[in-house]
Amino acid sequence: MAGAPTAVRLAEVAPGIHIRQGVTEDATAANSDAIANIGFIVGRDAVAVVDPGGSFDDGQSLLLAIRQVTELPIRYVVQSHVHPDHVFGAAAFQAEGPVFVGHANLPQAFEARGSYYQQGLEKILGVGRAGRLVTPSLLVRDQIEIDLGERRLTLTAHPTAHTNCDLSVVDRWTNVLLAGDLLFVDRAPSIDGDLRGWLSQLTALDALKVRAAVPGHGPALVKWQDAVGNLQRYLTVLLNETRAAIDRGMPIEEAATTVGLSERGNWALFDDYNGRNVIEAYRRLEWE
Ligand SMILES: [Zn+2]
Repeated sequence: MAGAPTAVRLAEVAPGIHIRQGVTEDATAANSDAIANIGFIVGRDAVAVVDPGGSFDDGQSLLLAIRQVTELPIRYVVQSHVHPDHVFGAAAFQAEGPVFVGHANLPQAFEARGSYYQQGLEKILGVGRAGRLVTPSLLVRDQIEIDLGERRLTLTAHPTAHTNCDLSVVDRWTNVLLAGDLLFVDRAPSIDGDLRGWLSQLTALDALKVRAAVPGHGPALVKWQDAVGNLQRYLTVLLNETRAAIDRGMPIEEAATTVGLSERGNWALFDDYNGRNVIEAYRRLEWE
């Protein structure tokens, strides 16, 4: 068992928006899977958590950090998508009695992958520390608004992009986007959905004209324009070069080691993710 959880260090990236930046690593026992950017938004009457963390430890640490900032009730726990580093901390918030919110596809994604993810995380962290998934009861099909008291958040359920269950949050007051893993900065993106779909959702998000964004991985806050440009460039290179490889009849294994290499210097953990991304893209694009 780990020692008592400690409150994490937060950055208040905009008034009332507090973010804990994840480390640029894969999950380990030492980092408690605290590898994604997670945080919370404080309104006049209540708090919304936007991603409860990557493990029970990570969620508990976030809860302690919230209680150092505010005693307001935690009314919502928003879960941005299915990946463990964003959602396995959910159980740490259950005693607070929030409404758990997710994309309409999230319960099915939890059903399909939950036990696989649980076993994987328990292997790394141990049973007590891994946490578990909490199925959302408030499902977003298109778009909803939630109100924390003089603070409205717009939650959008996206068509398949990074995954098939991506949910983004815009804080209307500050015009800050909490993008979840629709936005990666500095760390290599992982495609677990649809490359072309992701590019089209970035175009849709761009039309919102937000000032700044909290990416799922990377700094706690970035300028939207710069960050989205880098991600669009990587995904476009991947799309064009994978298509060209397919057109030339290059085998998938060879494509996985040659496509996208011009991007290698731009992303941490590139070698861990790019090959997998190429394989994912290749399998979809070869049926075009
Ligand atoms: Zn993800």
